[in-house]
Amino acid sequence: MSQRPIYLDAHATTPMDERVLEAMLPYFTESFGNPSTNTHVYGWEASAAVKQARETIAETINATPEEIVFTSGATEANNLAIKGVAEAYFSQGKHIITVATEHRAVLDPCAYLETLGFEVTYLPVQPDGLLDLEKLEKAIGEDTILVSVMAANNEIGVLQPLAEIGEICHSHGVLFHTDAAQAIAKIPLDVAEMKIDLMSLTAHKIYGPKGIGALYVRRRDPRVKLASQIQGGGQERGRRSGTLYTPQIVGFAKALEIGASMMEAESERLFKLKKQLWSMFEPLEGIYLNGNFTRSLQGNLNLSIEGVNGSALLLALQPVVALSSGSACSSQSTAPSHVLTALGRDEQLAHASLRFGIGRFNTPEEIETVGKTAIAAINSLRQANKLQ
Ligand SMILES: *Cc1c(COP(=O)(O)O)cnc(C)c1O
Repeated sequence: MSQRPIYLDAHATTPMDERVLEAMLPYFTESFGNPSTNTHVYGWEASAAVKQARETIAETINATPEEIVFTSGATEANNLAIKGVAEAYFSQGKHIITVATEHRAVLDPCAYLETLGFEVTYLPVQPDGLLDLEKLEKAIGEDTILVSVMAANNEIGVLQPLAEIGEICHSHGVLFHTDAAQAIAKIPLDVAEMKIDLMSLTAHKIYGPKGIGALYVRRRDPRVKLASQIQGGGQERGRRSGTLYTPQIVGFAKALEIGASMMEAESERLFKLKKQLWSMFEPLEGIYLNGNFTRSLQGNLNLSIEGVNGSALLLALQPVVALSSGSACSSQSTAPSHVLTALGRDEQLAHASLRFGIGRFNTPEEIETVGKTAIAAINSLRQANKLQ
């Protein structure tokens, strides 16, 4: 069979849009200069391209170009935000607040800081994955320096109330960081309106290249201090050294520009596909929706399935549809998803889950095929279990 499986794993990564590739190509070969070089035209071309990209990215989130620090992706941006703030503010306090359902790229830097003497509060979530704002406000103390809450969850798609969180943080004089890797170009993000102080972005979840992302760092009201985590040539105003990766930066900006321009129409289209898929599963018994159907990324549908083995189900689907249970980063491990566990799902349901990530290039016909295949696989696995 030469047919490749239908790709329905848009939360793990996305294929690059052809228009993004086209925009990137000249910067590999013709305009290959080092953007930090100012003695010749090769450097000037690269520098102009980076400047333009930085402006585009800043404008999309209502920031200024000086507030954008390019990184290798959201993992590095999260590390820079959390460790960089911890190191710059430790004399003012050693308490950080985050949430149990965050990505490992937030949880692990926080755990690392605990080994250095910081105190971290991991807030629980409600059964639908949303943060309880009262719990957040109660957790903030004299010693709190940073709150880190993701914009959109990478497993269940839930959208946290960023503006309300920003308001709480600013009223207590605490910095607010958000990991927006899944949210950028999917929902409107405005750092001024939402009172966001630091925001992590990545290109490869929005049909851009892998290996490029950014950290937004507020410069006014308040001016965020940040200890650099990578030292060297002093690029990015000393906040992140290393030669700027011009083609990736150009691709990132192009992907963001395309994503932002089609955001509204695409959200509607994705929500239709999600409803189509859910309507196929809904009549079945023992299917549980994880998260919140509407306060969610429109392309996300995460289901727990009673009475089947999770790995057996994924194996059965493999030839037809490419998807994962939980996050790509932890799908190698056999532990149940920490996100589904935080929602209160028992071990079987946390294990037997399917994360559908519907993306830009998926069609209603594909959704139909995927739904039918998954339902057939679930029925036959349940039947086999009964016979044993
Ligand atoms: C994908 C993802 C990351 C990691 O981003 P990279 O650019 O791959 O390092 C971090 N946080 C969330 C929420 C993600 O979905």
